[in-house]
Amino acid sequence: MAAPELPKMGPRDVGAPDHKKMLHPAMARNYGRWIDHSVIKPGVLEHIAEGGESIYTVRAGSPRTLSVDKVRQMCEIADRYCEGHLRFTTRNNVEFLLTNEADIDPLIAAVESQLGFPVGGTGNAIGNILHTQGWLHCNLPNTDASGTVKALMDALFDEFKHETFPQRVKLSTSCCQINCGAHNDIAVILQHHHPPKIHHETIQTCELPKVVAICPVAAIRPDKIDSKDTLEVVEEKCMYCGACHGQCPSMEIRDPDTDTLAIWVGGKSSSTRGGPSLMKLATFGLPNNPPRWPEVTGAVRSILDAYRQGARPYERVGEWIDRIGWKNFFRLTGFTFTKYHIDNYRFARTTFNSSAQARR
Ligand code: SF4
Repeated sequence: MAAPELPKMGPRDVGAPDHKKMLHPAMARNYGRWIDHSVIKPGVLEHIAEGGESIYTVRAGSPRTLSVDKVRQMCEIADRYCEGHLRFTTRNNVEFLLTNEADIDPLIAAVESQLGFPVGGTGNAIGNILHTQGWLHCNLPNTDASGTVKALMDALFDEFKHETFPQRVKLSTSCCQINCGAHNDIAVILQHHHPPKIHHETIQTCELPKVVAICPVAAIRPDKIDSKDTLEVVEEKCMYCGACHGQCPSMEIRDPDTDTLAIWVGGKSSSTRGGPSLMKLATFGLPNNPPRWPEVTGAVRSILDAYRQGARPYERVGEWIDRIGWKNFFRLTGFTFTKYHIDNYRFARTTFNSSAQARR
């Protein structure tokens, strides 16, 4: 008996589209058959397939927040040199893909003159800075990560374009302490200095059990004021992470008078050599000082200068510090070691997320 005809489904309109439909034709032709690659010059890669065909990648640092006009300019350049193909990386680079080697230099000239983007970020260079959306999108930002990144990348423009470090250097900035900037060689992270202040008059609009559940150290518990449900914070347990503020805006932890920025170092997500590593605190209490954040830029520059002078070839920042020791790291960077660098927090539960991989 013939199977009954199933009702016709509408076109699928949810989920990620099939990426293979969007590959550059040369990538589609050689899918799964790439055997080698090389860096032709900073920002330009060549990938070679089994049959000898090559595809070239020109990487440019984008500022992440892009206007429609800027995206149209990028597409126009991709139409001219790349058969209409480009892609974005997780670090906000835009990569132009092309097969004609002779078009590489005209493409770079167009990217630099029309878009104003630097070409680079490959090999032993500073990568484009991974960052959170800041005031544009995030529901709990305490600083504008995009602004800090702009100030930093202006200062590190040449380091993006030239491969001058012993190994690649990955940076991130996070506009809160939850740190969606992830583990990196150098990370700029906002830092709170007191527990959240609870707005009891508006907190009923939040889902209180979820606010209790989200606290990683169980510092929040139910309370009642004038017979109304509310919450209280056990202040000696609170580590000022701000996770509760993301769940409920009435848990107000943001404070323009006391919030500062801290710099953490030595994070690594890859499994190469010593494996993934967590970041550790390098310096803190840097003023959240727009529009150019000179204190943050200066501290990052101190770390980079010491790393470039002292690291051996292929050592990442964390591996360099492990070899020379933290005492020497503080001496070389000029940062002050304080009691706050010692992790003596006693309320941590055993279920803390302590993997360098899990945040990626
Ligand atoms: Fe808990 Fe973090 Fe909120 Fe403090 S700031 S109460 S530790 S979630």
